[in-house]
Amino acid sequence: MTNPAFKPWILGLTGGIGSGKSAAAQHFIDLGVHLVDADNAARWVVEPGRPALAKIVEHFGAQVLQANGELDRSALRRLIFQDPEQRRWLETLLHPLIGQEIISYLARAESPYAILVSPLLVESGQYKMTQRVLVIDAPEQLQIQRTMQRDSTSEEQVQAILKAQASREQRLSHADDVLINDRDPAWLKSEVERLHHFYLTLRGGQP
Ligand code: ADP
Repeated sequence: MTNPAFKPWILGLTGGIGSGKSAAAQHFIDLGVHLVDADNAARWVVEPGRPALAKIVEHFGAQVLQANGELDRSALRRLIFQDPEQRRWLETLLHPLIGQEIISYLARAESPYAILVSPLLVESGQYKMTQRVLVIDAPEQLQIQRTMQRDSTSEEQVQAILKAQASREQRLSHADDVLINDRDPAWLKSEVERLHHFYLTLRGGQP
């Protein structure tokens, strides 16, 4: 039976592109850990019928809507690209809403701890919503190789994304735990299992 007073502590899970965040997250899900992805929360807050979408349309006009009433992300991206003032306007609107969305989702979690997966955990300040941070880390060359294979994209494109993200040093400076994902998938799985058993011993994310 669930105990209404029970509140899971929150683990932040992050890593650069191609580090293996999503693969690690899937292993935690398989172990029964409840999880929310910040990228999904960012999509949910602009779904049709949500107040943020109405505000975006009021600000930018109907050009940011698709025919079916959903947000046209690429149109919006084009509008804020190279316009820092508009970008800031959008971030000021969405940032707190995404935070609230994550909090309300995690409030319903019923595993002993719950996970916030966010590629930009450090950059966005979302790490402040967590009690502990796990960084998935891999040598840059492996990150590039894996992303090129996954997304059939060029090395230059991956490099550009890497450059826009926090540096490995910035990310690691916020880490409580680091999983070095430089071996095969079985190793990643066994490391996630090891960390999971450790996390089950923690209260509030601390030993
Ligand atoms: P991220 O979510 O951090 O961008 P993914 O979890 O999508 O990264 O991993 C990038 C790609 O590398 C995926 O195709 C994934 O299946 C693969 N991958 C992840 N970890 C390993 C590993 N240890 N060995 C081989 N391939 C891996």
